[in-house]
Amino acid sequence: MHNINELKSLLSEAKKIVITTHHKPDGDAMGSSLGLYHFLLSLGHQVHLVTPSDYPYFLHWLPGNSEVIDFQIQADKSMQLVTEADLIFCTDFNALSRIGALGELVRQSAAKKVMIDHHLEPEGFEDFTFWDVRACAAAELVYRLIVTLGYGHHIDKDIATCLYTGIMTDSGSFRFPSTSAEVHRIIADLIDKGANNSRIHELIYDTNTENRLKFLGHVLSQKMVIMTEINTAYIYIDQEELKKYQIVTGDTEGIVNYALSINGIRFAILVVDRGEARKLSFRSKGEFPANEVAKKYFEGGGHRNAAGGISFLSLSETVAKIKSILPEFEEMLKQ
Ligand code: 5GP
Ligand code: MN
Repeated sequence: MHNINELKSLLSEAKKIVITTHHKPDGDAMGSSLGLYHFLLSLGHQVHLVTPSDYPYFLHWLPGNSEVIDFQIQADKSMQLVTEADLIFCTDFNALSRIGALGELVRQSAAKKVMIDHHLEPEGFEDFTFWDVRACAAAELVYRLIVTLGYGHHIDKDIATCLYTGIMTDSGSFRFPSTSAEVHRIIADLIDKGANNSRIHELIYDTNTENRLKFLGHVLSQKMVIMTEINTAYIYIDQEELKKYQIVTGDTEGIVNYALSINGIRFAILVVDRGEARKLSFRSKGEFPANEVAKKYFEGGGHRNAAGGISFLSLSETVAKIKSILPEFEEMLKQ
């Protein structure tokens, strides 16, 4: 990162700080942001975490959760905080379009902006960049930032718990290729500093509702299409199903991974009809660039093996579009 000393000197005096993260924050977005939140509080700053939307119930146990401000619920307060901030930290995203209406407020704010992220193609809106696409999680970068600033000794149980959660969720519980030896060393340190690894795993992954499991059973048995010849599987979910099973934010997370877990499948797609738009999740194995499909055809992006996008066509038209574009990637998918 450039100007680490300048950032350190900015942090040497009490500041009004806002942290924000991407729309529909996931485990890494909330883990990295709340880890940073507790760290900045430990330095004596006035800190607020503003999310552009709600986030899954299985993250609501994270330390600091009750202090989080949801822009969609507290718009006026959020605007005031962003406008009056001296410093704004943007974690787990690198383009202001990822935070919806908050984006323009952040762009216009006189605050210095710090971007902490691991996604490709940063937009470049920030004053301080802490960016590494090789990092398995934004939470890994928050850890490295704290240590680089010379405050490793500030990492307490709350910070360790939040950062552990971010790294665990974004690395697929330490199994994705980005899980380097260094990540394991960081994880060991976080456990030393109080993160209860086994309990955190339970709180994230073993809190299914009965509805969610039944929904999963329905979707996998009725709504998954496997195209064996091109090593691809897709799942499509309509609004009626979301209603019937009382699906809430977070309930569809991870479903795409079931399609990818089928032997031989290299590319998996999940389409969920969210009413106002169709949200797509892409996952791949090996070299297949899921993010390029998302970028070229669905106004999205992400990492090579995990990307997302959006479609304003109907659900059936979106599925037809997926089928029509797959032949373009056939050669790569068959390898
Ligand atoms: P998910 O499928 O879990 O929503 O997202 C997978 C990955 O793709 C995440 O790293 C996320 O940041 C990225 N992603 C999801 N949706 C979008 C999108 O609409 N635009 C871009 N650029 N990235 C996205
Ligand atoms: Mn992330």
